[in-house]
Amino acid sequence: MYVNEQAVKEILEKVKPAKLVAATKYIDEKEIEKLEACGCLYFGENRVQAFLDKYEQYHGQGHWHFIGTLQKNKVKYIIDKVDLIHSVNSYHLIDELEKQAKKHDLKVHILLQVNIAREESKHGFDIEEMDEVMNYLMKCPSLIVDGLMMMAPNIEPEDTRIYFRQTRELLERLKETYPQYPLHELSMGMSQDYQIALEEGATIVRIGRALFHE
Ligand SMILES: *Cc1c(COP(=O)(O)O)cnc(C)c1O
Repeated sequence: MYVNEQAVKEILEKVKPAKLVAATKYIDEKEIEKLEACGCLYFGENRVQAFLDKYEQYHGQGHWHFIGTLQKNKVKYIIDKVDLIHSVNSYHLIDELEKQAKKHDLKVHILLQVNIAREESKHGFDIEEMDEVMNYLMKCPSLIVDGLMMMAPNIEPEDTRIYFRQTRELLERLKETYPQYPLHELSMGMSQDYQIALEEGATIVRIGRALFHE
């Protein structure tokens, strides 16, 4: 697919002051440079190999986020190359991130993925688990929890509003209980529902299809 320059500029304006992370799984490095030329400076890849290929080819000023399911054994390939990992969804992954962060002498910024709609098919922690997770993270001094990430169910956009709202409420509660963490980011909303996510407090939207054309 190719960058739709008009759409990128319009969406960048619309989402301000939230951050637009362009989902780059649909495009190659050439198009990533076009995104940057339009003013889009955050790129989110969801597979490790594709990320590494694009990262190596890309020589601009933009920032990379990892937004997809991350396997434990692949953490070591990306840990020193991404600014934020959106999709931290298990204790095993937390352990490996802490181990690799320490090894590279890095502070690693993460978001915790919440399975807010309790979907069998989706990754992420349950709401009830979150306090246990936050307490567990206290033993991980190399990890900085910037906030939460969620994937809305694939239903009518307006019906997802409640899940965005519940995620924001969870973030607010965690922020009060765990003041030692920044907890200021809410990564939610994609092409079909980002406007609703923004109304409900998204600070980062991850958008793919709406930025591109065939
Ligand atoms: C592809 C992808 C998006 C963007 O989805 P679109 O529907 O193309 O906007 C957002 N988040 C993740 C994790 C993705 O893999």
